[in-house]
Parts: sequence; structure tokens; C-alpha cells
Amino acid sequence: MNLDRMELADCGTPEALVAAILKQVPDMPIPVPIKDVAMALGIVEIKEMELTGFEGGLIAFADKSEGTILVNDRSNPQRRRFTVGHELGHFLNPWHLPKTSEGFRCTTGDMRASKAKPGDRAAQMEVEANRFAAELLFPKPWFDKEMAKLAVVDVEHILALATRYDMSKEATARRYVDKHREACAAVVSQNGKVLRIYRHSSFPFVEPERDSPVPSGSATARMTVSENEVTGWNEVDGGVWLGSQHGRRSPKAFEQVLGQQNGFRLTLITLDDDDPADDEEDVERAWSRPTFHR
Ligand SMILES: [Zn+2]
Repeated sequence: MNLDRMELADCGTPEALVAAILKQVPDMPIPVPIKDVAMALGIVEIKEMELTGFEGGLIAFADKSEGTILVNDRSNPQRRRFTVGHELGHFLNPWHLPKTSEGFRCTTGDMRASKAKPGDRAAQMEVEANRFAAELLFPKPWFDKEMAKLAVVDVEHILALATRYDMSKEATARRYVDKHREACAAVVSQNGKVLRIYRHSSFPFVEPERDSPVPSGSATARMTVSENEVTGWNEVDGGVWLGSQHGRRSPKAFEQVLGQQNGFRLTLITLDDDDPADDEEDVERAWSRPTFHR
């Protein structure tokens, strides 16, 4: 793969950097050969090794003329792919500078950061590196086209997309809820505890916070789901997930659950937020397009 780094010189955002890469490789293979891309852009070595206390690292000259990426070899291949993308994001952004002379040492928490407090430059760099990795590993021109075909929300789409892009189910779920035309949210839980929440920009709110119990009224808490099993859609009161913050009237919510190893569950949530006064209009609309829930 041949890439000219000069073409990336004036890119001010992670998205612009990725666009400048894809412009040079219009026939980018899917899954994206992330190591080849990194090696074509000045990374001289990708070391997969035992790392203690962090998931990925970047050692580079201050002028970023060349760099070495470190990847935790205990993590699964899909996670390692994201790590390479994340570190390449630090490498290509000329304003990303590590706190110490040891270089970047990025934890699993850094790799999931999606927002930073104003003024927290270190956290902002992690958010930008994650945006870069997601943009590159789920390239917009391909991913958007595939998402545009999906009228409904379904966990099965996430499984198929994760395989196609060779990415983890969680990274795929995050991108999926972000890009779906319907407002939806994904909740990752383990043994009844909420670990992470991802939501579409117009999904109103998810009340349970990180490390709090999965709400007792939810299908996720009530249902027995075996490993790799995907449930149908279960209707629950929207208040279960939205809490009191949503106002007086809770919409109906629908939950679909994927059972995973070690007590992990991935839950997709959609809402039926229509006002009852619109019911007649709803009947008409129901005839003109497929319904979204089953
Ligand atoms: Zn980082």
C-alpha cells in the first residue's frame, strides 16, 4: 500500500485525516488492513507484546517522522485492530503529544473515551484518537451505504457488521447506534451490572449509570439468555430505562438482548415516542411503510 503523508498535512480533525487517507485508497479493502495502512504512513514496527496496565502505546520522535506501536497481545484480534487504529490516530495528529518521554500509554478506558471535560487536553487527545480509529476501521463511504439499507434496528446487523469489518461487537454496536437512522441505544452489562452505554444523538437519555444495577423492570434483567442467543423485541415501560428524567409520560421501550460469554449482555433499546393523539396518523403511516419492531 502506498500512501503520501504530505496529503495529510493540513487535516485538522480525525475525520479529515481519514478522508485524506481514503482519497488515496479509493478501493480500500474491507476489513481495512489497518497494519498495512499504519506501515504505509510512517509506523516502522507494530509490537504485539505483554503490556501491564495499558492496552496500547506509541513511541515516536517528537517530529513524528517515524513511530512504533505497542499492542497488548492478550487482547483478542478485533480489539488489537482498534488499538492500532487508536495509536495511529495519535501518531498522525501533529498536536498529539504524550505526557512523558515514554510516549503514549493508553488504557482500555482511554480507548472507550467519547467525551472530555473542557480544557482536559489529555482526555481530548484520547477522544480524537478513538474518533480516528472508528472512522478508519468503519470507513464512512462503505459503512454509511450499508447502514442506509437498514430500516429496522436489530442485534443481528451488529453481528454481521462486526464480522464484515473484523471489529469487536462492542465497537460495532457503538458505531451502529451512532449511525442508525432510528434513535436507539446500546447497553453493555455483565452479571446484572451496567458497564457502558452508547446512544444515538437523538436518543433522549439512559438513566442507569455505569456500575449501577441493570433496571429490575427491564427484559435484560428478567430474561434468561444463553451465550450467543439473540432474543426477540420485548416491550417494556420506557421509564425503566429513561427514569424520571424523561418527564411525566414515558414512551414504550423495546429491548433486544444478545447473550455473551462470562455473563456479558448487549442490549439494544428503541423507543416508541409517538403521542397517543397521533394514533390515527400512525395507522395511516403503518400502511405506507414497514413497522420497526417485531
Ligand atoms: Zn491513546
